[in-house]
Parts: sequence; C-alpha cells; structure tokens
Amino acid sequence: MPDINTPYIGRFAPSPTGPLHAGSLVAALASYLDARANQGHWLVRIDDIDPPREQPGASDDILRTLEAHQLLWDGSVSYQSSRFETYRDIADTFVANHQAFFCTCSRQQLKDHPIYPGTCRHCNIRPKEAAAIRVISQPVTVEFDDRIQGLQRQRMDSDIGDFVIYRKDFLPAYQLATGFDDVDQGITHVVRGCDLMDSTPRQIYLQQLLGKTPPSYAHLPVLANANGQKLSKQNLAAPLPLDACAQNLLKALELLNQRPPTELLGASCTEILTWATHNWQLASIPSVTSLRRQQPDF
Ligand code: GLU
Ligand code: ZN
Repeated sequence: MPDINTPYIGRFAPSPTGPLHAGSLVAALASYLDARANQGHWLVRIDDIDPPREQPGASDDILRTLEAHQLLWDGSVSYQSSRFETYRDIADTFVANHQAFFCTCSRQQLKDHPIYPGTCRHCNIRPKEAAAIRVISQPVTVEFDDRIQGLQRQRMDSDIGDFVIYRKDFLPAYQLATGFDDVDQGITHVVRGCDLMDSTPRQIYLQQLLGKTPPSYAHLPVLANANGQKLSKQNLAAPLPLDACAQNLLKALELLNQRPPTELLGASCTEILTWATHNWQLASIPSVTSLRRQQPDF
C-alpha cells in the first residue's frame, strides 16, 4: 500500500518537437497511472529549451492530445522557456564555485575524444568568443535503484567526463534544465523512457551539487520498430489517431503489460483510466530497455 503520508509528485515532460506518438503516449500514461495509483499529483512540463528543434503549435497539440485521452494534469502547465535566466544563473554560480568552466573547444577538436579531455578545465573567466559551460565530473560513482530496470551506476569522470550544462549557442542543456526543474518542482517520482536512462546519473549529479535530494526513477522500455530504432518524431512516428483515444489507451496498457480485460472494449477513456489506476502494477512492466514491434501499434 502506498504511504499516504509520503507525498508523490510525478510529471510528464514532453519536448514540443512534434505531435505525441504511440511511444510518448505510453510514457505519459505510465507516469500518470503511477502518480494516480499512489494518490499523487501529476504535472505536465513543456521542455521547450531548444527552439531550433521545435515545431510551431506542437506544445498546444500535445496538451490537446493529452486532454483528448483524459490524461488531465494538476495545476498549470509549466514551460522551461520561462526559466532561461534561472538556468544561466545556476551555470554561472557553478563556474563561480569552480564546479564548472567555460569551454571553447570546437566539435573538430573533440571529435576523437568520447570523454572530454579537460582542455579548458581552468577557464573561469568568460572568454570573448562563444563558449559552452561544462560541469566538472569528479571521480565519483553515481548510482540509483531504478524501479523497473534495477541498480544502475556510472563513474562520473571515466564514464561521462565533464559535460555541457550550457550550450555555446546560449541555450541551456537538457541535463541542467531537467535536473534542476525536477528538484525545483518537488518531483518525487520520474517515470520516463529508457532512452533517457543514461542521462539520469548526470541529472542526479547536478541535483547533488545543488544540495537537493534526487527523485526516484523508473525507466520504461521504449517502443522500437522492427530494426530496433526507437519510435521518435525524428523517424516520423505517426501522430496518434484522435478518433480512437480509448483504443489508444488500451493498446498502451497492453504494451505496459497491464492486461486490460476485454470488458473494457467500448469503454470511455475515463472508465479505462479508472480501471487502470486501480489495477496499476509497475512490477508487471517488462524490465527490458526496448520493445520491438513488427507493425506500428497505433
Ligand atoms: N523532454 C524530454 C523528451 O521529450 C524528456 C524529459 C524527461 O522526461 O526527462 O525527450
Ligand atoms: Zn574545452
């Protein structure tokens, strides 16, 4: 039984780079159900920090699609684009504290270095030319016990290296914006796709530098096509059919191995979500990193 004294705050954080597809519906649904089954709050945050990759209208389109499936969030939607200055301030503070540095290395200079070689580590004064900001990865191990995938660990110095938290093109990096927002918004449980599992130690590392307690994590298997490629907006996954929302939810529940009963065929989205909340079993989700599909699911 969930402990009702422990608040649960979950979130779904799409990037507005295109419409919601089957893979993102599975992630939205799992984070929603895990929150609701634990009497938790469920927030929606639009991760709009990368304007060159964004598609006009995608944020609203995603929100309308969630609503059409009755995946209704608590409070108002938050937008990372409203916090650019905050992210910049955090990055500058890390530099001032000698936890981060300005990096002017070009892609060309770094191309033979999967791990950043430390070239600019001592650059604490803003250079005249455009510079990224990298956080120093200390020789420490970050580990977390993923609720689906089990124990994960990475060595910050040898597996990751000093990583970018603010980009040369004056945009905050995903790791910083998400690592900060999750603790700033009081998120206690992150449920998201396994494609982001490798990022989690970097986000935990930043949260620890900020003196905050990281949330718990559950990484879902991602949907992949028959070639093993993740369904994504980049490989043109089909937008969800909005005239079939109830069926979409049932298919997503099947993918999450929640075994919706046949009586739910013909039920409304609300009825399906009520059943799914009462019968939610995170432990039934396969602990694999991807689910290969011969045919598109929906
Ligand atoms: N915005 C990210 C994406 O759509 C996900 C962020 C997260 O869940 O941490 O891929
Ligand atoms: Zn550099």
